[in-house]
Amino acid sequence: MNQKEKDMTHFPSKRSEKLEKYVIDELLKHSRYIFIQRVSRVQYGYCTHCNSRFRTSGDLKHNGKSECPNCKSDCRVKNHGMSRKYLRDHGTVVFYEKSQVNPDSAIIAQVFRVYRDYSGDYTKVQTEYVIVAKYLFESGNPGRATMYERWGGWQKANSVHSIESYPHCPIESIKEAVTGTPFYYSTWDQHEQPQRDYVKFFALYSKYPVIEILTKLGFKYFVGAKLFDGKTYSCINWRAKQLHDVLRLSKQDFQLVHKEQKLNPMQLRLFQLSRKDSAPPTIQEIQNFFTDSVGDVMNELNVVLKYSTLRKAMNYMQKQVQICDTYKTYFGLLIAWRDYIRDCETLEMDLSHSLILFPKNLHEEHQRTMKLVKTTSDERSRAKMLKRAETLQKYKFEDQEFVVIPAETTEELIEEGKRLEHCVARYADRHAEGKTTILFVRRKNNPNSPYYTIELQKNAIKQARGFKNASMTPDVQKFVQQFENTKLKRKRKEVAAI
Ligand SMILES: [Zn+2]
Repeated sequence: MNQKEKDMTHFPSKRSEKLEKYVIDELLKHSRYIFIQRVSRVQYGYCTHCNSRFRTSGDLKHNGKSECPNCKSDCRVKNHGMSRKYLRDHGTVVFYEKSQVNPDSAIIAQVFRVYRDYSGDYTKVQTEYVIVAKYLFESGNPGRATMYERWGGWQKANSVHSIESYPHCPIESIKEAVTGTPFYYSTWDQHEQPQRDYVKFFALYSKYPVIEILTKLGFKYFVGAKLFDGKTYSCINWRAKQLHDVLRLSKQDFQLVHKEQKLNPMQLRLFQLSRKDSAPPTIQEIQNFFTDSVGDVMNELNVVLKYSTLRKAMNYMQKQVQICDTYKTYFGLLIAWRDYIRDCETLEMDLSHSLILFPKNLHEEHQRTMKLVKTTSDERSRAKMLKRAETLQKYKFEDQEFVVIPAETTEELIEEGKRLEHCVARYADRHAEGKTTILFVRRKNNPNSPYYTIELQKNAIKQARGFKNASMTPDVQKFVQQFENTKLKRKRKEVAAI
């Protein structure tokens, strides 16, 4: 038996009566109709819920509401003679049960799409059930969570997920399924579920049974964050067995954190990260410093803490905010500090040096590094342009009247665009990177003055533009033709020869 066949043995072959009851009484409760028909002036009704025929009071109206005198259902009234082509009700339900194989340790859930179709004979309508997904949750340490979806046959899904955003799921079915299994203690009913089917929760629990203790000890936040893509700040080691290991702390530190109970996730993370420092801050110091009003600064702090201890960073932040008018908050300060550190990295400055990592006046020093970074990057692009120009010397060409020369600097390209009033300057980066090639056509008697601009791509002329995007004059066209024949066509032959 392969894994899929084994997994399938956990599912019951028969539909549960409780499921059917839920579908009729809750999910499709709105799907109850009284069809009315007059026979020699007397109005009769037919209830689709209890399948009884009765004489009405005589005044039921099409699309009105009425109670069935037999089963007391609230029904919608429909005319016997009206078209029922589209009269079809449906719903989706996720239904939990115990595993057929390991009822003490595994639970299953199945997603049913249910229909009632009145387009045919309304006295013979049956509720139809189609199973579209199956979940198997096996407890253990770790356990296993598997989902199968119906795509032709049953296909294993990559991850356990809800089949729709708001499926119906009778909570009673979960309660019954988990009773007598480890899932009973999983704290499933303590976590708000955006999706009402709990499948993501049980999948997480199967994988990481530790979420039970985490929840019970007041760290419920992390379970919710893990389930629904919130921030866990990497606080939790989900696979650890011992609780203090789960919280990445020593036993003593875990006791402290547990006693306090008031740390928010970021504070907890900072506490964890600073434990091995010399003179680490206490829980109270972290709480008093990184209050809620400081905001979420974890990303910025992560950059800082690559080089500094938390204690030193806190001291520095405190001083800078006092001496500098620019940064009114720790948040603003940290963003600037992070940017400054990144500048230093770019400039390959030695951040292990405390005068560099903790500049006396962060604002001033940051202004300086920003300028340096910009100059450096300008220098780099200038070098790139020149290197490119070197490889383009082969395109130099002239006759009696005109010359072709390659662009050598960004400034030249900008000037060319300005004087000819076209947009060649926009091609500067692509030119520097070799994605396109810009050449200038100049008059021999006035070689510094822009005249026509050529763009080459794949060794062929893509465009040639003059003043305000003018096309070539016959003279220029003749020259460019010659250039093409001499420099481009020959080269193509060379390429072909290779
Ligand atoms: Zn009835």
